[in-house]
Amino acid sequence: MKTQAYVLAEKDAPFKLQEVELAEPEDNEVFLEVVACGLCHTDLCIQNGAFPSPFPNVTGHEGSGRVLKVGKAVTRVQPGDKVLCSFNHCSSCGPCQTGHPAACEKFGEINFGRVRGAETGNKAGIKGAGGEEIYGAFFGQSMFAKHALVAEKSVVKVPDDTDLVTLSALGCGFQTGAGGVLNFLKPSKDSSIAISGLGAVGMGALFAAKYLGTKTIVALDVVPGKLDLAKQFGATHAFNARHSDVVQQVKDITAYKGGVQYFAECSGNVPALKAAWEMTANRGHLLSCGTPGPGVNPPFDVFGNLVACKTYSGLCEGDSNPPKFIPFLIKLYNEGHFPVDKISKTFAHDKLDDAIHAMHKGETIKPIVVFGQA
Ligand SMILES: [Zn+2]
Ligand SMILES: [Zn+2]
Repeated sequence: MKTQAYVLAEKDAPFKLQEVELAEPEDNEVFLEVVACGLCHTDLCIQNGAFPSPFPNVTGHEGSGRVLKVGKAVTRVQPGDKVLCSFNHCSSCGPCQTGHPAACEKFGEINFGRVRGAETGNKAGIKGAGGEEIYGAFFGQSMFAKHALVAEKSVVKVPDDTDLVTLSALGCGFQTGAGGVLNFLKPSKDSSIAISGLGAVGMGALFAAKYLGTKTIVALDVVPGKLDLAKQFGATHAFNARHSDVVQQVKDITAYKGGVQYFAECSGNVPALKAAWEMTANRGHLLSCGTPGPGVNPPFDVFGNLVACKTYSGLCEGDSNPPKFIPFLIKLYNEGHFPVDKISKTFAHDKLDDAIHAMHKGETIKPIVVFGQA
């Protein structure tokens, strides 16, 4: 079927909206009419080559849509269903078998290598106007497009009254931060947590910490407007991460002036991770929810970490199991605990460049590109 998709021809090429031809769904695939797709930094890391992925390709991995057609083996959804989409996984490794698909041993290979299924491998499912093969299946999706072939394991059926534009982006950035706090750190009510990097991941973590009633919630970023927003959404303290004395500022407001008990580092910035380690109290827990990309070591000393009895962890996609966690986030949204609508902005289907610009400038936390009718 012919449709339109944003294609990256090669590393550092612009996103170009062009006509493409989608293959028929394989047994394990779902054919979707895309309603909307959030923009995530990871899409830009494909464009600039920071994360390896074959070209030419289509990105977009925070999509929502309506099912038009399903492959022979699909049982999770049927035509007419509304879906939100998330990452793909192998289903057969230890973490997948025990309910932790975000820790899938083949996470990178499948989601960045664009594997469509055991039989299909990463055979391109998209063709350009000249017949050239274009890789889809990014996080099982590739939804910067009007239609998409999506892995069954990437779709989560949602109720018919779900707002597919406002909630389209739950499946990556927001769940990464929220899951880091709700599924992993689990701070108690009387504890302290700091969150650095107030993009969608950091805001998801902040909403989650507020929902849990954590007593001290410290927000850190370099954009003053985001610090104001964080206070509106429940941060008890907000500090500019560029301030030369920021480590001491954070320590000063914690018990015994020792630092926070929990830290969700969401920027992926290495100096921010180093500062986060210093702001974490002895016996505290520092979690990386964001990453600078492959090949970077933690910027702290193993001996120093040992004698401070600190725990350092990394977590992919908030250790979320999307068919369970996304409906839970929708419930939190409906109850007013997860106000993603307040930090998102929509862009018309042909304005992806404007969406990227707005995210870079810090003008919006979650740009959402709208491809169809909600
Ligand atoms: Zn797996
Ligand atoms: Zn993402």
